[in-house]
Amino acid sequence: LIIPDFQGFCGEIKKIYEDLKKVKGGKNADYIPQLSRVNPNYLGVSVCTVDGQRCSFGDTDIPFCIQSCSKALNYAINVAEHGPGFVHKFLGKEPSGVGFNQIGLDKNGLPHNPMINPGAISCCSVLKKDESLADRFDYATNEYKKMAGEEFIGFSNATFLSEKSEADRNFAIGYYLKEHNVFPENCSLFETLDLYFQLCSVEATADSASVISATLANGGVCPTTKEVCVTADSVRNTLSLMYSCGMYDYSGEWAFEVGLPAKSGVAGSIFIVVPGVMGICVWSPPLDELGNSYRGILFAKMLIKKFAFHQFDTV
Ligand code: GLN
Repeated sequence: LIIPDFQGFCGEIKKIYEDLKKVKGGKNADYIPQLSRVNPNYLGVSVCTVDGQRCSFGDTDIPFCIQSCSKALNYAINVAEHGPGFVHKFLGKEPSGVGFNQIGLDKNGLPHNPMINPGAISCCSVLKKDESLADRFDYATNEYKKMAGEEFIGFSNATFLSEKSEADRNFAIGYYLKEHNVFPENCSLFETLDLYFQLCSVEATADSASVISATLANGGVCPTTKEVCVTADSVRNTLSLMYSCGMYDYSGEWAFEVGLPAKSGVAGSIFIVVPGVMGICVWSPPLDELGNSYRGILFAKMLIKKFAFHQFDTV
């Protein structure tokens, strides 16, 4: 067993959960009504180890939109499908140092990385680009579902419609990328943005998302079904970029303090990967000023205080 005293470990996670439950702070995303209306008291913490041991506390079976967490998954399945060489013709590997929805390109004229909007939109333009939008959506969500060990993956159409109608910035980013010839040939900007909004509106639960994180922790093999989901190379690339770019403008601080690959989304989830050990999902809707889950960040700091999971704890 990867964690010999799993019972004891769960007891410690439960204590963190109970301490967090008492904390108030942050504010739900309010750029679309669907996110602002979610009960801010929800708090869920789920753990899935690479050998399939599970524990969960709180609201771990309530669906939430994965939002920007989809960016990490889209990159992973893209690289597994098309290879890193091809995918990186359309995006870079460098932290941007600016907000996730800033308009801009790196020194090579490409979006900085796949974890922020320009790179994520570029990523969507590449994913199975020669197929119909319907097939591309099916493909991506089937891959998510495989990574989640066939557990819950849903779709919020209301969120998708709202995203799309409040999307001036993302359209501006899209046009900017188009102007700078970032997209592949014959790419439809509208279909690309639709796919991007749709994949942001995919739902998971903390339980199913912990399995997704555990699949990444396990080199792309789902620990509960043993299915091979994404290639080991793709996982290596994905975790590297989650480590350096996964937490918006807090990424450097997160790498320093927490030292784990992670990706956060504006609905309040954080997918956390302890490579070779476990996947974790923490979900609490209120966000801090940088757009990360307020209690999610606290969770990670408390976790790292108790356990030597920081990538450089052991050196
Ligand atoms: N749908 C959101 C957007 O592009 C995703 C943002 C996020 O989770 N940071 O605005």
